[in-house]
Amino acid sequence: MKLNFCSLSSGSSGNCYYLGNEFHGILIDAGISETSIRKFLRSIDISMQSIMGVLITHNHIDHIRGLEVLTRKNTLPAFTTHNIWESILSLKNKISSNSIREIPIQEKFQVAGFDIEAFPVCHDAPETIGFHICAGEKKITIVTDLGHICRTAAPYIKAANLLVIESNYDEQMLVNGKYPHFLKARIQSDHGHLGNHQTSAFLADIISDNLSNICLAHVSKNNNTPEIVLQTLQQTLSERGIILNGQQRISILNRNMPTNMIRLIE
Ligand SMILES: [Zn+2]
Ligand SMILES: [Zn+2]
Repeated sequence: MKLNFCSLSSGSSGNCYYLGNEFHGILIDAGISETSIRKFLRSIDISMQSIMGVLITHNHIDHIRGLEVLTRKNTLPAFTTHNIWESILSLKNKISSNSIREIPIQEKFQVAGFDIEAFPVCHDAPETIGFHICAGEKKITIVTDLGHICRTAAPYIKAANLLVIESNYDEQMLVNGKYPHFLKARIQSDHGHLGNHQTSAFLADIISDNLSNICLAHVSKNNNTPEIVLQTLQQTLSERGIILNGQQRISILNRNMPTNMIRLIE
């Protein structure tokens, strides 16, 4: 069985990620329009018909913008927790009840043959989850919005072969930038987003030969650049004397277009 991962879009203007094999796939979040999802999937040779469902992390608009149209036009089931459904529906989203699937927390469920587990993360939405997905012998963890890495989330992140984790802002750029004080405080808080140094330090702690792909996600447009994200991680790893094993790949996910397909199993 093949296994491919592709980020269609990552960041505050919209998040959507694809994971699939040669038969079918799933999406994680629908933060861009249905038209863009369809267009981006086509650009990587994936048909919408092969998508079996969409997993939703939380109710922020950059994760659910396209959800209503995506589920309606494609009669697609969407999977998230009871609390997150309540928070999505309270925003006057009209999701057909046929598409609503409630999932448990920290208990396995299946979509498209993948074993999936949702786990809680700390973020400033009514509830936010990350996903740990097992596909054959590969494990994928996706955590795009979190203020810090709590004890519950850490083991799911450590177990990943492919990890999508946010590296949202450069600490210096945020402090010196134009955002109002309250917004800077929110972003930096334990329920906001992860800064480059936070993410890099955590990765330096957990990196092992098991972790073959690190995808740095949700990079801020105003308080970060892809170059600084990469530089910070490389510097942190070198300060700790960590040398990548030659098989490990680091990708900085694009904000508004698909990033190269990662072929986990060829
Ligand atoms: Zn977000
Ligand atoms: Zn968010």
